[in-house]
Amino acid sequence: MSSIASSRLLTTLTVIVCLCCSGFVLMFGNNHAKLPATIEDPVISFTWDGKAPPIEPSSWRNDQYKDLEDKEIVRLIIEEGLTLWSEVDGSYLRLKLAEVDESITEKLDSIHSITIAKVDENSSTLTAGYARPFPDPHNSSIIIDCDIVITGRKQTAKNLARVIFHELGHCVGLGHPHESFTSLMSYSSAGELSLKADDMAGVFFLYPESDDHSFSDIYGSACGSLGIYYKNHSPSQTNHLWLIILLSLPFIIRISSRHISA
Ligand SMILES: [Zn+2]
Repeated sequence: MSSIASSRLLTTLTVIVCLCCSGFVLMFGNNHAKLPATIEDPVISFTWDGKAPPIEPSSWRNDQYKDLEDKEIVRLIIEEGLTLWSEVDGSYLRLKLAEVDESITEKLDSIHSITIAKVDENSSTLTAGYARPFPDPHNSSIIIDCDIVITGRKQTAKNLARVIFHELGHCVGLGHPHESFTSLMSYSSAGELSLKADDMAGVFFLYPESDDHSFSDIYGSACGSLGIYYKNHSPSQTNHLWLIILLSLPFIIRISSRHISA
């Protein structure tokens, strides 16, 4: 391969990398529907029915779930998911697990719930889970009730975590970014189970801790560098990492081109 061709290939790959964090999608489009959290009252509680699907032993997370009962694994995964969406720099949103209520069901009752569905052996449907966020009929910008239902079929701890983290994102107010392959809200099953730049940008957009800046100044600053210019908060390590990688790409391309053409 010539150095020009290899350079073009690497440049194309760079563009693809940047396009991977191309933006978040809101669950209800321009209505910006979100949970009824405010800066003064930022906590939203989710009630779990205390049930669990059969969970396959898995080496995920260094075997930390290996000797635990299924219900304990579900509780830990739900708590991890709630924490994940609560720790976005610049966002005031805080999600927490309420007391277990075995009688909780998926219905419009203004109680955000997580329930485990009974397995219908006659059904061929293999849906891993879904979320139903209901906007307030009197104020469509507020999600008054979001119910998550997880399949009761046997699955791995990692898959269960992926589904719960993703469905919580819908309750937060985010939809599917079809162009992104890195977002927790995309259909991609690859990569780490953590919030990506687009996911964090979406949470930050819906629940900004401060209004002393314009959103476009921050989100438009650089692909994946959310928080870098947010003056009241230190950017996280992940944000630094993205910025370092992006700033380093021209040098990586140049060095790689030399190496290939050598
Ligand atoms: Zn989804």
